[in-house]
Amino acid sequence: MIRQGFVVIYGVLIAALLLCQHIARKSKKKIGRSVALLLAGLVPPVTGNLLIIASRDQTLSTIGYYIYFLGMNFVMFALLKFTFEYCLLDWPSKSVRNLVYSLLTIDTIQYAFNSFFHQAFSTEAIVVDGANYYRLVPYFGQTFHRIVDYGIFFAVLIIFATKVIRVPHIYVERYSSLLITMILVGIWETFYIFSRNPIDQSMIGFAVFGLIVFYFALYYRPMRLLDRMLANIASDMPDALFFFDAVGRCIWANDQGKKLVNLEDNNFEPATERLEKMFQLPDLKSSETMLRTQFTFGNGENARHFVLEKHEVSDTHGRVTGSFLSVRDNTEEQRAYEKQQYIARHDVLTGLYTREYLYERIKKTIQTNQNIEYYVVFMDANNFKVINDIYGNDFGDFALKNLADWVRNNFPASAIYGRIAGDMFGICLPVSDFDEGHIENELVNFTIKDEKLEHPLLVHLGVYKVVEPGLDVSVMFDRARVALSTIKDEFQKHIAYYDDNMKEKILWDQLISSQLHKAMETREIRPYLQPIVDRNGKVVGAEALVRWQHPIDGLLNPGSFMPVFERNGMVAEVDKYMWRYACEILARWKKESRDLFISVNISPKDFYFMDVAEEIKSVVREFDIDPAKMRVEITETAMMEDIDNRVRVLNDLQQNGFMVEMDDFGSGYSSLNMLKDMPVEVIKLDMVFLKKSDNDYKAKKILNHIVKLSDDLGVTSLTEGVETHDQYEMLVDMGCKLFQGFYFAKPMPEEEFDLFCVNN
Ligand code: C2E
Ligand code: MG
Ligand code: MG
Repeated sequence: MIRQGFVVIYGVLIAALLLCQHIARKSKKKIGRSVALLLAGLVPPVTGNLLIIASRDQTLSTIGYYIYFLGMNFVMFALLKFTFEYCLLDWPSKSVRNLVYSLLTIDTIQYAFNSFFHQAFSTEAIVVDGANYYRLVPYFGQTFHRIVDYGIFFAVLIIFATKVIRVPHIYVERYSSLLITMILVGIWETFYIFSRNPIDQSMIGFAVFGLIVFYFALYYRPMRLLDRMLANIASDMPDALFFFDAVGRCIWANDQGKKLVNLEDNNFEPATERLEKMFQLPDLKSSETMLRTQFTFGNGENARHFVLEKHEVSDTHGRVTGSFLSVRDNTEEQRAYEKQQYIARHDVLTGLYTREYLYERIKKTIQTNQNIEYYVVFMDANNFKVINDIYGNDFGDFALKNLADWVRNNFPASAIYGRIAGDMFGICLPVSDFDEGHIENELVNFTIKDEKLEHPLLVHLGVYKVVEPGLDVSVMFDRARVALSTIKDEFQKHIAYYDDNMKEKILWDQLISSQLHKAMETREIRPYLQPIVDRNGKVVGAEALVRWQHPIDGLLNPGSFMPVFERNGMVAEVDKYMWRYACEILARWKKESRDLFISVNISPKDFYFMDVAEEIKSVVREFDIDPAKMRVEITETAMMEDIDNRVRVLNDLQQNGFMVEMDDFGSGYSSLNMLKDMPVEVIKLDMVFLKKSDNDYKAKKILNHIVKLSDDLGVTSLTEGVETHDQYEMLVDMGCKLFQGFYFAKPMPEEEFDLFCVNN
């Protein structure tokens, strides 16, 4: 009965060992191989024992003993290998290793010789509980075997024991469980040796040891280690963390969490209620799976910002087992973000909104308050550049800050304002809050004043009433700006409103801008020539004045389209085209031996878009024309900016044989002053001097003196706008040299001009 019982147990153990060995061999873990070796090693001694127990025959028993002892040697070899790997150790030295392996080999060999010399063991028949067994009779060879195997076994025990003592607490389990099993097995085995029982029950222990090794080496994961690690991470987190059970009771909080809700001891339960109250949270017990909110305490500088996040924890069946809440104090981040936002949204100099942010704010305001009517106001200071030029940039900056302050102080709280660029500001406010009378009064005597300086500033506002809230804010400001442009130089009126005519004008401006290139190609645009005559009424030349024979709008004068191109810069293309056209005419005249000159106009904007001197020189060269036949007209206002450079251009032209004329002399602010600096050969007196007025007498006197002055300076005088015979006579008397005006002829197409000259 006992015999059969053990046979079954051993059979089961062998099967278990083989199965585990198979799994271990397949394992991807590195230690899998040595575990498999150990398990494989355990199979022979267990089988040997099975044989000893099962056989009633001496030979079979003896074979069983051989398998058992030799198998044990193999187990020791495999146990060593496993131990070093499991304990992350290596042999203390090569000689120790060689010694141990030699002892095992010698022992194995001496067993092989036992059948001849019987120096290790023999067997004797005994009867236990009426059953026959063959018991081991040990000799000195067997003692040697025991010393070797016990030696190795003890060494392994010591290695494990050292590990248990040395490793951190959480790893102890990993080593102690194996150590304890080995000690028990060792005791069991020793008991068997001394009891001289024919059945070595301790083999059960060895087999179980193998299975425990299998588990610890390949499957055991120290849960306590994981727990500890997670707890450490949770404790060290800068966020406050709270863990709740399935019914929302707080079961744990880290130190930060305890501090946040004032938990003194380890009673975490009050945390739930305190958190709900503090952050005005919905019921933490029943709130949704995931919750993310932000919360701010206080405001302004003292504000503290928190981000709250709650997650639910579910088990493998999807049942909610609890939840955790993290509360992060992100005040610093928020402050840094706000600071960055502030910098991005505010103009450094004035502290007002930047254009981008202003537009964004206006857009939002208009869209969210569809029932309120708004004005978008464009504000610009006239000739601001002069302030920088005359007083320097510091005073310029001071003036801009003053303008910003003025906006702050004179617009209501409902207004949104910012600096669009340079000296341009933008404001948006409800129509009902705009106090036009007050603003107009304020602007009448607007001055910039510091301790030393005082400068009047002409400030205008263009106002667009938002009737299309969907419009781009930049377009709204464009419209306000168009309104402003209608009063740009006015001193009496400071506020202008946009109306639909202006809109049509904008559309028309856009249309003609898009048609310009085509119009030049098809020669819809071309010069009209207005004759210039001498004292005897003889035609000596002509001024080329641009005209556009528009297919829909008819003949257009420059006054209707040139300002548009002046604004968008296309004027330079028109002028280039005009100069080239003038050269073409001059080339034809040259061929026809007609000795006349043509004056062309230069716009101040041309200087921004090209090298004026180079351009004119090259076109004259191209058509092979005498530069003296090409005169260039430039107004004094064109010389106001960047004067040094422009004087250089005029000098360049003169040196290359061109004649320079000062156009519209007397119409600007400082004609006489400019005369001093501008290198000119002709001055064209503006028609203002000829206009009928109460001060005719004075005007005549001035005219007379200018003519004399130009004589003195060696400059030719030419009077424009001569409309009557009387005027002509008077000017001849005064000594004026050249004349241009309707009295002689209006500007006319090239062909007509040819005829006019023939009849002259
Ligand atoms: P501007 O250069 O001073 O040209 C003289 C303007 O006076 C011309 O007007 C001409 O038609 C007009 N005018 C001539 N005689 C009389 C007169 O007896 N009575 C009156 N009331 N007016 C007279 P227009 O052609 O309309 O040109 C106006 C301005 O447009 C020009 O003034 C010039 O500044 C500009 N302009 C014309 N063509 C060009 C061009 O090709 N390029 C540039 N940049 N500007 C041009
Ligand atoms: Mg002119
Ligand atoms: Mg003129």
